[in-house]
Formats: sequence, C-alpha cells, structure tokens
Amino acid sequence: MKALIVIDMLEDFVHGALANPRAEAILEPLGRLLSHARSEGWVVVFSNDAHEPGDPELSIWGEHAMADTPGAQVIRELEPNPNERELLCPKRAYGAFDGTDLDARLRQLGVDEVVLSGQHTHICVRHTAYGALRRGYAITVPSDAVCAFEGVDEQDALDYLRSVYGARITAVAELIHEPAAVRQ
Ligand code: ZN
Repeated sequence: MKALIVIDMLEDFVHGALANPRAEAILEPLGRLLSHARSEGWVVVFSNDAHEPGDPELSIWGEHAMADTPGAQVIRELEPNPNERELLCPKRAYGAFDGTDLDARLRQLGVDEVVLSGQHTHICVRHTAYGALRRGYAITVPSDAVCAFEGVDEQDALDYLRSVYGARITAVAELIHEPAAVRQ
C-alpha cells in the first residue's frame, strides 16, 4: 500500500514568510497526483510544519508556519479532506517521522511505500526520506512534485535521495500510468 506524503505545502512556504517561487511549478502535477492517490485509495498524509515558539530551527529560518496561524495552513489548491485514510500530521522539525506518530499510523493502514512530494527536496523531503528508510519503507519521489529553494541544484538534491536513501526517482505521469501489478 502506498501513502502519498505531501510535505509543507503551506501558506508560509508558498506565499508567505519562506515563499518559494519554485512551488508554483509543482502545483499542477502535485494536484494531479493527489487526485490519483485519492481515487486509487492510497493513504494521503499532509505533513505540516506547526511550530511552537522555541523550536530549534526557528533560530535558522525565523518564525514560519507557527501552529494555528494562517501561515501554517495547507494552501487552498491542495485542500485536505481529513478522514481515516487522509491524515493531517503536524511536525515541529524537518522530518515527517520526527517526533510524530506517523509511523504507527502508516503501519496500521498497511503502508509499505511512501511517495514523497512537496517541499523542500533538500531539507524536509530529505529528512522524511531518511526517516522512511530507517523504518523500512520503500521510497518513491516524483521529481516534478517536489522542489528545493531557488539557487539549490534540484538534480543534486534528487541524486542524494536516490544514492543515499535508495529512493526511486520518477515523474507524476509515470506514477499515474503505472500498471496495477507494479503499483501493488
Ligand atoms: Zn519549519
């Protein structure tokens, strides 16, 4: 069973405090992948920064995506529809598994492969990939549904995920058209 993990597609990371011009370009493919995941019955997870004052990384980036503020909301284009297979999973560090109950929730739902999307390829996607590797999940990353900050080499960031975490680097169209047998 696959889980699509949508990482930090939040107001502050698209339009606000840490706005990334590259984020606009992934919205369309990510939206298509999200629709596909929902229609195929994948688990969907929105892994969202929800910081509290004093969280260590705030000293690096400044305040962003503070819990219960508008900046910490998932952008309207990707509106979550929380239910037993679509989870909102707040986090206070880079990785989706760090200090959260995500692993237990995915195991309960029979997930053995995570499809990572969102931001940023070289930071939160990367730390989530490490968390997934450590816990034994297969890792897939559609390159057109993730983005790094401007000025960061996207290909280097993807190569790292492939060479260090064994991630399968693919594309949204490929994932959507994969035959069911391959999809499991
Ligand atoms: Zn953060």
